[in-house]
Amino acid sequence: MKERTLVLIKPDAMAKRLAGNIITDLYTLNLKMIALKLSNVKRELAEMHYTEHKGKPFYEDLIKHLTGELHNNEKVIAIVYEGEDAIKKVREAIGKTNPDECESWTIRGKYGKINTKTNCHETVVHASDSPESAKREIELWFDKDEIVE
Ligand code: ADP
Ligand code: MG
Repeated sequence: MKERTLVLIKPDAMAKRLAGNIITDLYTLNLKMIALKLSNVKRELAEMHYTEHKGKPFYEDLIKHLTGELHNNEKVIAIVYEGEDAIKKVREAIGKTNPDECESWTIRGKYGKINTKTNCHETVVHASDSPESAKREIELWFDKDEIVE
């Protein structure tokens, strides 16, 4: 099924100058990039994005991570990809949530890190995990007229 999915290149990846590598890896999935922007993420947007994790032990650091507070105020690159099974394809390419459990060829396997100074895994990228979350997240991060079809 043709789907859309949201990818965020997070501040840990930006700090490591990995945006190019990550976009290159995602090109191999043959999806269409239909929106892209650099975002200076405010706490309010980070909280809305990660609302499902509110109250968890890693939540506070997760929010600080997405706003760049833990990485020298680095920004986030937000991208919408579209294509056949886009959600599953991107999730497979990024790997599991815990960087130590990822296959080594995945994006998180290559670049992710468990930082013992914080409670939040440095997972390099976010990717939507279902059609419902993709729809919600794309509407949260992009205005309709920012999607280039
Ligand atoms: P994913 O990013 O794979 O969709 P989740 O939505 O479960 O994973 O979690 C969002 C983010 O919260 C993860 O990318 C990671 O940065 C952080 N995180 C999730 N679970 C943990 C955990 N048990 N310990 C530390 N950080 C976590
Ligand atoms: Mg998630």
